Amino acid sequence: MKRSASKKAYQEALKYFPGGVNSPVRAFGSVGGSPLFIKKGAGSKIYDVDGNVYIDLVMSWGALMLGHAAPEVVRAVEDAVKLGSSFGAPTCAETELAKMIRDAVPSIQKMRFVSSGTEATMSAIRLSRGFTGRDKIIKFDGCYHGHGDSLLVKAGSGAATQGIPGSKGVSASLSRDTIVCPYNDIAYFRKVVAKQGKDIACVIVEPVAANMGVVLPGIGFLEEIRALTKKHGIVLVFDEVITGFRIHFGGVQTILNVKPDLTCLGKIIGGGLPIGAYGGRKDIMDHVAPLGGVYQAGTLSGNPVAVAAGIANLKALKKKDYAALNDKTAILCDGLEAAFIKAGVPVTVNRAGSLFTVFFTKGPVDDFKDAKTSDTKRYAKYFWSMLDQRINIAPSQFEAQFLSFSHTDKDIQAILNAL
Ligand SMILES: *Cc1c(COP(=O)(O)O)cnc(C)c1O
Repeated sequence: MKRSASKKAYQEALKYFPGGVNSPVRAFGSVGGSPLFIKKGAGSKIYDVDGNVYIDLVMSWGALMLGHAAPEVVRAVEDAVKLGSSFGAPTCAETELAKMIRDAVPSIQKMRFVSSGTEATMSAIRLSRGFTGRDKIIKFDGCYHGHGDSLLVKAGSGAATQGIPGSKGVSASLSRDTIVCPYNDIAYFRKVVAKQGKDIACVIVEPVAANMGVVLPGIGFLEEIRALTKKHGIVLVFDEVITGFRIHFGGVQTILNVKPDLTCLGKIIGGGLPIGAYGGRKDIMDHVAPLGGVYQAGTLSGNPVAVAAGIANLKALKKKDYAALNDKTAILCDGLEAAFIKAGVPVTVNRAGSLFTVFFTKGPVDDFKDAKTSDTKRYAKYFWSMLDQRINIAPSQFEAQFLSFSHTDKDIQAILNAL
């Protein structure tokens, strides 16, 4: 397959951007080789600058539930931008989008729009600290919550209750305030909270983890976190930036029947435009300025073009058959698993709705430690083989794959045939 135009574009980009990209995973570091440069997208397909067409299972990392360039979203953006791209003043459309989100995610009584998932989680952490007057936070190993300083910490070996930064440039004092627990290990969590509960402002968790590959919460895991955080006056933050409007119309919290105090959203609520949101209990949200003393602001927050895209996207999604999409994903996952089993390749396929990961390990994969037993060299081979057959999957073992409403049965068959 011809990739010379992508290679040339990458050489040029390398002169301007660190690693040639504006977000690290795009550089194909964990699969080797150089990235595709994308020219356009339509429905389930993307087109690179060499003219190759691929079935896309990345879908802007899950933001595009309707597929690329969904006509209703394109139209909404065109209409909105003609009226002005930003005012730095309130618009009625923001309230309309907020109403749609609150109706779909009832634990969100009040919310704030920001411009990315990272901003949503950063703001939720600051708010939790301001609300409780406590400094420490708990996160789970392998969960990603954007690149805010407090959240770029994961457990290294020997880091029991003291965080080790997952990035240079994060100050030691901030790392010390982030406690990392293993996902799905409720006994560990219980111990940490028993010892330090009164110092902990919030617990932030992906209710279905999707940034170490897809990992499902075990039975009782989230319920017990909810009970313990309530008992100790700790704010429970669900990071639903990926899961929000992904598995059904609303948060995965509704399906799991666990109600957090705050929820972070992003990705799908902007339909491919930059937006994020955090919201939850009114008594907590009212601590945000100008009502309260927790400062948080944004020149482009509630941007009218992004909000218009979000409204159009959610309106369309509300009418969609999520169960059918989840079933379609199950068929794909069953097919993938069967093919690998037949070939004698050990795999574990984890799935939640239209999110899934094929881990190259015999499993089970219930936390980051399990995920890391995967054969990443084999994943790289799988990635390039699929790409050569015009299927674009995530360039890392530790990411989710995403189906959208634009993927057809024919696409599913093509993916299975390629495999
Ligand atoms: C993508 C993601 C984020 C960060 O969102 P950005 O818009 O990339 O800043 C935060 N949390 C989760 C769970 C995510 O998947």
